[in-house]
Amino acid sequence: MGEGLANVSVGLLFCYDSAWLTRAVHVRDPMPSPFDLHSHSIVSDGTLTPTQLVEHAAAQGVRVLALTDHDDIGGLAEAAEVAARHNIAFINGVEVSVTWHKRTIHVVGLKVSPAHEPLVKGLEAIRAGRHARAEGMAAGLDEIGITGSLEGAYSYAKRGIISRSHFARFLVETGHAKDISAVFKKYLVKGKPGYFEHRWAELDGAIGWITGSGGVAVLAHPGRYDLGRTNMATLLAEFRELGGAGIEVVTGSHTPEQYGHFARLAHQFGFLASLGSDYHGPGHGYMDMGRLPDLPPGCVPVWQDWPEAEAIH
Ligand code: AMP
Ligand code: MN
Ligand code: MN
Ligand code: MN
Repeated sequence: MGEGLANVSVGLLFCYDSAWLTRAVHVRDPMPSPFDLHSHSIVSDGTLTPTQLVEHAAAQGVRVLALTDHDDIGGLAEAAEVAARHNIAFINGVEVSVTWHKRTIHVVGLKVSPAHEPLVKGLEAIRAGRHARAEGMAAGLDEIGITGSLEGAYSYAKRGIISRSHFARFLVETGHAKDISAVFKKYLVKGKPGYFEHRWAELDGAIGWITGSGGVAVLAHPGRYDLGRTNMATLLAEFRELGGAGIEVVTGSHTPEQYGHFARLAHQFGFLASLGSDYHGPGHGYMDMGRLPDLPPGCVPVWQDWPEAEAIH
């Protein structure tokens, strides 16, 4: 009889434990999404090669991956080739820098054709502008006695664009701040010595290059623009009007509250919803790959008609 009681209590404990465990697992670690439609390699300001990036995505369980380097499509062919070997559906992407009413916003292009001439030429022009801007940034840093930053930044930018992230790495390496985040605050944002006012592409131009190449234009990380409600509504309406089809709802820099907020705005404005980590390499940026939750219920995913997504779920 003693034995019987012991068995019962073990059974109860087991039941209780497994229910609790299941709940705990759900709360802490919801099944991550197999999609990642926003990531960077060393072709822009990421730290992994396209090959390493795709290998990392595979290890993290990503099944549909877009490489979206800033203003550069030079990593797509390599990434696509490696993705094929890892059973990852690869999406040609890019993240275009745009100036909209004196603010910088980013437009992700998904399923772009890397051969589309206006896209190729448009991105070339942005990259030329990036070089001129980098010279301006270096001149500003020279003025406060920080020399050699142009060469220093370029030493990190071997395969594509030059960006503030490359200056940030140089400034950390040379001991001007303790980490990347501190260096941005101290030197690389508006009003600081290494900031240089720059005009990026026009919104209609960027959307036109993307859609003209057969791609889908998606407003990147809308939660990062620090726009009030009215200006956000103006941006979304204009983006839609110009042919933009989606917004990022789940992205590495959004809070869970923002997932809900932008899911509602996507619904309200008739946008498809996108999801991507904005991964820049180990220890850089917001979130690792393979960690983002699914889109909130009610979103229409940007991949809804994609053959690449058919094998998923
Ligand atoms: P750029 O396009 O040259 O202005 O560089 C922008 C990039 O810098 C972004 O894509 C981020 O990767 C990075 N970045 C911007 N602000 C910060 C920050 N506060 N801390 C770390 N990285 C940042
Ligand atoms: Mn970046
Ligand atoms: Mn961005
Ligand atoms: Mn990005």
